[in-house]
Amino acid sequence: MLINGNFSKDATVGEDRGLSSIATSTRPQYAPLQDTFGRTFDYVRIAITEKCNLRCTYCMPEEGVDFKNGEQILTADEILRVIDVLARMGVKKVRFTGGEPLVRKDIVKLVEGAVNTPGVKSVHMTTNGIIFPKYAKALREAGLTGLNISLDTVDSQKFFDITRRPGEDKVIESIKLALDLGFPRVKVNNVLMKGFNDGEFFDFTEMTKDQAVTVRFIEFMPFDAEQIWETGEHFLSADAMIKMLKERYPNIELDSGTRTEHHVFRVPGYAGKIAIIPAFTRSLCGNCSRIRMTADGRIRNCLYSDSEYSLMDILRAGASDEEIVDLFRKAFKEKAKDGFEAKKLSAMRESTIEFKGRTSMTQIGG
Ligand code: SAM
Ligand code: SF4
Repeated sequence: MLINGNFSKDATVGEDRGLSSIATSTRPQYAPLQDTFGRTFDYVRIAITEKCNLRCTYCMPEEGVDFKNGEQILTADEILRVIDVLARMGVKKVRFTGGEPLVRKDIVKLVEGAVNTPGVKSVHMTTNGIIFPKYAKALREAGLTGLNISLDTVDSQKFFDITRRPGEDKVIESIKLALDLGFPRVKVNNVLMKGFNDGEFFDFTEMTKDQAVTVRFIEFMPFDAEQIWETGEHFLSADAMIKMLKERYPNIELDSGTRTEHHVFRVPGYAGKIAIIPAFTRSLCGNCSRIRMTADGRIRNCLYSDSEYSLMDILRAGASDEEIVDLFRKAFKEKAKDGFEAKKLSAMRESTIEFKGRTSMTQIGG
């Protein structure tokens, strides 16, 4: 659907990117992507690979999963085309994730392409930081806005126990490098789990004392390829984390964050922020603005839904931009009210595609 049924000129986009009015006036713009509950989706998270150079226990087994390869995953040109269509539907924020996005050789091209897409205001990446130094300068020059670097522990043995590989020193170096290079937003992702790394909670909160980072504590979710979730013994809730924070820092203040970082705090006088992400308890679904795309080119309208819509099939069958728009609209028309409902519906109905039941975060895109 075109806005006003016409090819409309988006003056803001032209001004933002310094493009000629001729270039923007010929680009069709589409109405924003919305669901039946009135939510608008303007943020796309794209898994660009399923592969990874770590083997985190909360994500996948030691031997990995059945990683998709080669033609089974979207090319950079296909991804950039979809970003362009989404931007013309009002998507302003792009995140590259995976798997490990930096194992993809064309990562700089992807970032550059997304940054230069008219309408896109910011481009982010979630990475484990292991090989970040190799690409750091090129990514900064390409215009990457934000980096979320995952680090669950600063203890060498624990890092090895969690990721099954060495390397916490490399990740720590990457966080410092990202700050030194002046990336506008640097965040640390920490999946806080009982019996693994909860003993380091305050070591991580203290990182915000002198460094302008946001440390994000994420609830453990059941996407670990059915390894350690089932026992329930490692789960630590967002409420429990907030309680720990308030006990340690009675004067802690509320601060602002992104839409899914509702619980954001700053210890008075500290440089950085602390965010608690209720990823499993799902109290922020009402604020959801996310579109998810998997590396094998499927749209997911919710992390907790098994329903998927194959972009790859239509792209490779020569779909027009309008057909791409229509597939996103169909996917989001069918979005459930929240993650609990999505899970319930997924359990009840047959999946619309053959890829029922992705079990690892690396196949969904965290
Ligand atoms: N490889 C990159 C990384 O680790 O940052 C990007 C992909 S990873 C799947 C994205 C985020 O999901 C990471 O911060 C990771 O810690 C988190 N994650 C993975 N499995 C998870 C799980 N079962 N529960 C909660 N978070 C998880
Ligand atoms: Fe790899 Fe990220 Fe999964 Fe860890 S969480 S195994 S780094 S994809």
